[in-house]
Amino acid sequence: MKKMSYVCVVLILSFVAIYFITAQGNDVQENVALTKVKREVQAADQDLQQQVELMKNQISKLTDNVLSLQSELNGYNQRFNQSKYPHVKTRNYSDRKRILITGGAGFVGSHLVDALMADGHEVTVVDNFFTGRKENVAHWIGHSNFELINHDVVTPIFIEVDEIYHLASPASPPNYMYNPIKTIKTNTLGTINMLGLAKRVKARFLLASTSEVYGDPEQHPQREDYWGNVNPIGPRACYDEAKRVAESMCYAYQSQEQLEVRVARIFNTFGPRMYMNDGRVVSNFVLQCLQHKPITIYGDGTQTRSFQYVTDLVNGMISLMNNNYSLPVNLGNPEEHTISEFAQIIRDLSGSDSKISYEKANKDDPKKRKPDISLAKRVLDWEPKVKMRDGLLKTIDYFKQELNKNDRHWSFERKAYGIA
Ligand code: NAD
Ligand code: UDP
Repeated sequence: MKKMSYVCVVLILSFVAIYFITAQGNDVQENVALTKVKREVQAADQDLQQQVELMKNQISKLTDNVLSLQSELNGYNQRFNQSKYPHVKTRNYSDRKRILITGGAGFVGSHLVDALMADGHEVTVVDNFFTGRKENVAHWIGHSNFELINHDVVTPIFIEVDEIYHLASPASPPNYMYNPIKTIKTNTLGTINMLGLAKRVKARFLLASTSEVYGDPEQHPQREDYWGNVNPIGPRACYDEAKRVAESMCYAYQSQEQLEVRVARIFNTFGPRMYMNDGRVVSNFVLQCLQHKPITIYGDGTQTRSFQYVTDLVNGMISLMNNNYSLPVNLGNPEEHTISEFAQIIRDLSGSDSKISYEKANKDDPKKRKPDISLAKRVLDWEPKVKMRDGLLKTIDYFKQELNKNDRHWSFERKAYGIA
């Protein structure tokens, strides 16, 4: 019995010992596993940190790339913005002039803008858009050398300029007869306002005068020393007499205020950007031919005119402005045609089959007109270069494009309003 008890105690003690030994072994195993996990976590953490560093490097490289792309894009944008304008000459501050062109959104004015902008000057256009259009100068809007001001010259304006080309005035007979009082105001009050501005800022002043100062001339061709034959109370007087007063004002400012004035007596001029419905003979005949409508000749068609292309006129005006000669100078093309001949020329050049329709003659319509340009040749070394037919072809092309634009516009409108 005693032996049995002894065996039992030994067994129990053995179990207890085994239990403790096993428990300790488990603890060791757990510790080993924990250490392993810790190492693994540390390794993963290091890995992660390395990856983060790598990504940081990549992000900074990408940022550099984006910045360099951005600056490249800015360069492209700048080049694109510059190239969206026609080329202009680069001038120093000292030889760049600030030039005001009144009526610069009109037919002649907009070509003058092109020439002076291309020559690198700063050009400001003042126009009330009575017969001019923003579209004529749209290609300069936003250019740092160009400014367009919607303003009526009948009201004074104060700006700093070195030269003024004063063209603001309706030019086609239907336009200037539309509101004769306004035509008189524009050419008298408007001119005195611009002369006043020229006096204040000491600018040189060029007046766009007209062959109409010779009226229905008795001298042929017309020289600058001819005083003219104007009916002071006829339908054309609002323009003819107002331009004559404008010339008188120029010379009053010259003698009384020592203003530098230039007077260009402009003869019939044509070219692209003539207003389609201005009623002048070139626009009327070209449109009638292109639309195969009758060509309207006012009177018997024996009256004559001499037509110059617009770029020739612009070159003449710029030469005159830069010349020391200050008395009036004729600018025109002496190639003279009867209006009947002219109708046939335009019909042939445009390949039209339009019939001729003789209409009532206009009152006081000058019977003949042709400039004597010997003065311009002598003092300006200027004469027209563009042949009338070449100019007419360009003008016919321009009117074709305008008609297409109109057609597209109207077909869009018809669709938009559901009109068949
Ligand atoms: P145009 O009608 O196309 O241009 C005249 C411009 O003057 C237009 O832009 C018009 O909106 C602007 N204008 C009119 N009244 C104004 C006012 N009160 N204030 C501000 N702007 C005003 O005519 P154009 O053929 O370009 O003629 C320009 C100048 O040349 C005119 O002075 C005209 O008398 C003279 N001229 C032209 C011709 C010709 O055959 N084109 C011939 C002789 C003289
Ligand atoms: N004219 C014409 N048919 C027209 C428009 C004009 O016969 O549809 C004549 C007009 O009577 C004038 C000449 O063409 O004899 C020039 O007219 P425009 O209006 O162009 O200018 P103007 O020289 O008379 O100022």
